[in-house]
Amino acid sequence: MAAAAALVVPAGDGAGAAFRPTGVGDLPGPHQGTTQAVVALTFDDGPHPVWTPAVLDVLDRYGVPATFFPIGSLAERHPDIVRRVVAEGHALGNHTWSHRDLTRLPAGAWPGEVDRATRHLAALAGQPVTCLRPPFGATSAGVRSQLAARGLTEALWTHDTRDFRRPGVDVIVTEALRDLRPGSVILFHDGPGDRSQTVAALPRVIEGIRARGFRIVPVCGTAARGPERPAVAPFGPVGVGDRSAGVVSAGRLVGMAASPSGRGYWLAAADGGVFTYGDAAFHGSAGGLRLAAPVVGIAATPTGRGYRLAAADGGVFTYGDAAYRGGLGHVQLNAPIVGIASTPGGGGYWLVGADGGVFTYGDATFHGSLGHVRLAAPIVGVATTPTGRGYWLAAADGGVFTFGDARFHGSLGHVRLAAPIVGIAATPPGWREGSGGGYWLAGADGGVFTFGDAPFQGSRAGSGVSHRAIIPSPQGGYWLLGARPA
Ligand SMILES: [Zn+2]
Repeated sequence: MAAAAALVVPAGDGAGAAFRPTGVGDLPGPHQGTTQAVVALTFDDGPHPVWTPAVLDVLDRYGVPATFFPIGSLAERHPDIVRRVVAEGHALGNHTWSHRDLTRLPAGAWPGEVDRATRHLAALAGQPVTCLRPPFGATSAGVRSQLAARGLTEALWTHDTRDFRRPGVDVIVTEALRDLRPGSVILFHDGPGDRSQTVAALPRVIEGIRARGFRIVPVCGTAARGPERPAVAPFGPVGVGDRSAGVVSAGRLVGMAASPSGRGYWLAAADGGVFTYGDAAFHGSAGGLRLAAPVVGIAATPTGRGYRLAAADGGVFTYGDAAYRGGLGHVQLNAPIVGIASTPGGGGYWLVGADGGVFTYGDATFHGSLGHVRLAAPIVGVATTPTGRGYWLAAADGGVFTFGDARFHGSLGHVRLAAPIVGIAATPPGWREGSGGGYWLAGADGGVFTFGDAPFQGSRAGSGVSHRAIIPSPQGGYWLLGARPA
């Protein structure tokens, strides 16, 4: 048995005596030397299975990009979390393999500590890693020359929240917002210990930054989310193929709904934009509105003459014959809303949160939730049974949870996935005589997993396209909603 390399548990990056603030405007990447009113949020020493997703959920709720400096050995242990960081548009930087003080690192140890972490993160991210944050902020001319030889930019910080010492939420908020300048870089930690204070402080920090007129940007040269082109892939019997050629969405594409005929579909973007194809008619969008939180899903009414959009804060926007039955827009949620599903009659809907909380409106009935269960991975999607008397929830790790008359046909809860699960779709009512029902799970890489009598019609694994959802066709096939940079 190989002895496990001892992981040096960091004492917080602000603890190092060698640390000196880098000064105003020292954002590595496209904002270097900026005089614009931009600041950066940075998170060191993750990934952590609980706290990193919790941080990501808050960032997602506010639509804010951040930069993560994970410890290489922890990234190896939690690859799906690192993939989620990248998939959600955040930047990644090197923080060494085992959190070593680079000023004391022998030259012969650099390949194992620095190059190994660079290679590992780049492979997980599918993009180059261009900067490094020295653990403890410990740096020197020698360190900088080693970094330069590797094409790595040194990324320090200007604001140490001291969140590592758990000083209380108020202290973290105060330190983060103290004397903000253009180019300020704020240091937080998303691991390795209890980071609940950091998570609790984050909404107030983001709101405080915005109230002071600053925009939040990533460091290290990773582009923020740009416009996207939809890449809709039909599999098996579907009424209409990819009609989205040439379309560009300014917002991140987040959801899709099929028309009852299967001969058309709607796409929804995070900025509230709605795109229609085939016989799916346009009834309006939230595209011109200033949204408090990004749109996360779309559900059509059974007539096909209307649809509802759900936002991460639980806001619901209705169009056409979709009636408004309520929303969570003004409720303080424990976790952002991630999905919406219509009832078979169209008179109601369910909203589902990342923590597995289920909220019912109109004629949607409550059959249980995961609101008080400690999940290994966040919930990412919901699918309802044909009767509307039950639903499945799917988690990012492939776990499937059943409620009401939804039958369990299996899950990926114990499978090591190449990419996190992003959606679940149930077989349509009566698509096959004597069907016992089934469902598909789709991964961010376009992989498709079938359960029950849901037929495998093909997948898009290995396509290099970032996937967001799987949508059943009324005929027994499905579409995968993917997106490419425009
Ligand atoms: Zn650190």
